[in-house]
Amino acid sequence: MARITGRCMAACDIGGTKVLIGLVDEEGALLARERYPVQAPRMPAQVVGELTARLRALAERAGIAWEQVSGLGYSTPGPLDRARRVIISCLNLGPWENVSLKAMLQDSLGVPAWLEMDALAATLGEGWLGAGQGVADFIYLVVGTGIGCGLLVDGRPVRGWAGSAGEIGHLTIVPGGPPCNCGNYGCLEELAAGPAIARRAQAALWQGRETIISQQSNGSDITAEAVFAAARSGDAVALSIVDETAEYLGIALAGLANLLNPQVIALGGGVGQGGGDVLLEAVRRATLRHCPSWITGQGLDIRTARLGDDAGLLGAARVGWLGLNGEHEADVS
Ligand SMILES: [Zn+2]
Repeated sequence: MARITGRCMAACDIGGTKVLIGLVDEEGALLARERYPVQAPRMPAQVVGELTARLRALAERAGIAWEQVSGLGYSTPGPLDRARRVIISCLNLGPWENVSLKAMLQDSLGVPAWLEMDALAATLGEGWLGAGQGVADFIYLVVGTGIGCGLLVDGRPVRGWAGSAGEIGHLTIVPGGPPCNCGNYGCLEELAAGPAIARRAQAALWQGRETIISQQSNGSDITAEAVFAAARSGDAVALSIVDETAEYLGIALAGLANLLNPQVIALGGGVGQGGGDVLLEAVRRATLRHCPSWITGQGLDIRTARLGDDAGLLGAARVGWLGLNGEHEADVS
């Protein structure tokens, strides 16, 4: 195998059910990548030990000497305590409280490490190499089993006072609507994330409405993906579910457009990117309906994200390169 020369950044996107690791050069080329499943709960020392072993093995397989690795950029689900630089808690990962992964990772890997919250890391990835390339005012909306977003305003990430900016999934869209696990009712996430789309499809089936959605799911549980597949075939029930979902997303996006005047909003995540054109077109229509024409008339561009699952991984690498250059302003953890 040809040896890779030059510096590279180790990157890691730590999720509740999977971890993505990779090695990325300064231009953003993904030199090596691995995805492995994890089961919560796990203790921090376990996570760090496994990560170290897998990253070193990945580098070796790719023909990269560990001395070429300049640092590590990594992302985790929040919330983070920026002032004290720790992960406050992370129920997705295990019973963690006040954990400083940074020190543990640096000791274990022998390189400096920088942390970012997952949605913002993915935003930085799409901004660097994907749908937000060269765009200073950019919003990345991630729609999957939950909904969140990352905001770049004038090229700078918006984190908010305590670091929780972008929690758009808990915006109240329908007062008195379905209950959310945050304790509120009618949150965007309960109306437009993957499980909500599947619930709407299930309800249509129980009502005996004529649709091909169940054929699209091949006997397994109804998913948002099955709804999108049926909608692409022109299924009227599926199209109405997509429209209803897009209406809620459009209300939220119009609010963001009013507030921040972004140039580009990218739809990412399993549902956001998986919905493809059928969801994109419906979200565009809904956003335009709820947004004053003088804002949309400026050329608000709503598009599908480009990097898929790798947005967070590449964004974590970006965080590492920024950190190495002293440009990662919120060096949390
Ligand atoms: Zn909520």
